[in-house]
Amino acid sequence: MIDTHAHLTDERLASRLDEVLRRARGVGVERIISIGVDIEDSIDAIALGGRSEMIRATSGVHPNHSAGVDIVEAERSLRGLVGEVVAIGETGIDLYWKKVPLDWQVAFFRMQLRVAIESGLAVVIHSREAVRESLDVLRDFREVRAVFHSFTGTADEAKAIVDHGAMIGFTGPLTYKKNDFLREIACQLPRDRVLVETDAPYLSPEPVRQIKTNEPSHVMHTAGVLAMLWGVELAELDRQTTANARCLFGARLD
Ligand SMILES: [Zn+2]
Repeated sequence: MIDTHAHLTDERLASRLDEVLRRARGVGVERIISIGVDIEDSIDAIALGGRSEMIRATSGVHPNHSAGVDIVEAERSLRGLVGEVVAIGETGIDLYWKKVPLDWQVAFFRMQLRVAIESGLAVVIHSREAVRESLDVLRDFREVRAVFHSFTGTADEAKAIVDHGAMIGFTGPLTYKKNDFLREIACQLPRDRVLVETDAPYLSPEPVRQIKTNEPSHVMHTAGVLAMLWGVELAELDRQTTANARCLFGARLD
């Protein structure tokens, strides 16, 4: 199994990385993609990759971390890191927190899509209450491989994402009791377009939702719900979502 989205650089996980990795390996997680949210964090994620064969990194500037960042310098830094990562991101648009003006977020999103295309890398998209806006930007970058991570949107939004050709990542909310709508969407998606992830240390899934610090081993709970919804064994779910991740992130995942 691959946890395609975690923040291992977060102090709550980085400070006890060995046991976090041991527990993940113990339940069958073979790879963890540690997602960068700004340049410094991306460099830290790459450094973690040097500590364990299980870890791969991405480099990017999260929309909520783009305030006050020099975009020219950020682009230069990202270009310098493309050889050491499996994807660009997380980038995208967040209209929930509204921490950063939309046009600034879009400028950073477009810049990172450009870097991704030129380097042949996939893009990890954070899109909160902004699927339509994100797809509007993506349409100018048709050929880029992308995942909308931690999807919690509507059926129409899921369809628009799939129609565009992108993938959809599910996190803990897929397991929450009140989220029948999300499970219905997951049932209907083409199975070659779905990834599982934790977004650790955030969004612990059921039945460990009371554990405040989520970690990659918990991806098995989200995967278990997805397997149940699809009516397949966990091993088949693993095979399919691992193939999907490899299709998106490429051979650097191996
Ligand atoms: Zn994230």
